[in-house]
Amino acid sequence: MTPIAQHIAAIKAQLPAGVELVAVSKFHPVEALMEAYDAGQRIFGENRAQELASKAPQMPADVQWHFIGHLQTNKVRLAVQHATMIQSVDSARLLALISKEAVKLGRTVDVLLQLHVAQEEAKTGFSVEELLAALTVEELQGLPGVRIRGMMAMASLTDDRQQIAREFALVKSTFDLVREEFFADEPTFDTLSMGMSDDWPIAVEHGSTHVRIGTAIFGPRQY
Ligand SMILES: *Cc1c(COP(=O)(O)O)cnc(C)c1O
Repeated sequence: MTPIAQHIAAIKAQLPAGVELVAVSKFHPVEALMEAYDAGQRIFGENRAQELASKAPQMPADVQWHFIGHLQTNKVRLAVQHATMIQSVDSARLLALISKEAVKLGRTVDVLLQLHVAQEEAKTGFSVEELLAALTVEELQGLPGVRIRGMMAMASLTDDRQQIAREFALVKSTFDLVREEFFADEPTFDTLSMGMSDDWPIAVEHGSTHVRIGTAIFGPRQY
């Protein structure tokens, strides 16, 4: 087994049944992705549209690409062309653009609404209040070509495990509230993406369905 295959096996052995592993492959070469693929990994996460567009044609067709980065408006088409899921929808305007491009391409794209709960200002996403407001005025619902599957979030970059646990708990309670209030008739609103290399066990304890793990699989990124 290669180190990448070993890392994947070790993580999967600890993940509860039904929790999906997104292998975050940004900044890693296609050879590393193929090692993961050969170990059975099928969901890969990328955070730059151009990198996604260049890697996708080099990988087998059954790979599912999840876009996890801040998506600029001029890159929406590229992301829609290649991603099966866009996890990082952080505004109503972005969702409308994704819808428009998806319709043009005759596709339906799964999306997650990104919630901002971390302390860092630089992280993007809706605040809880903004998200509830946008759902209430129906800015986010009923758009063709997109299917809202759930929510994504990142915890603060901190060693304070209790802080991280509080943030994931807030995401989970917001997810449950949003599902009950706005998506009760849609069983496909079922995805809660949270947890990265350093905090995924805490995220799983708080109901994550998709963990996004890069460093713990592929090693450090070379920027
Ligand atoms: C890079 C990235 C990850 C993976 O981070 P690691 O610490 O390398 O596991 C997960 N989620 C998002 C949104 C990222 O940008």
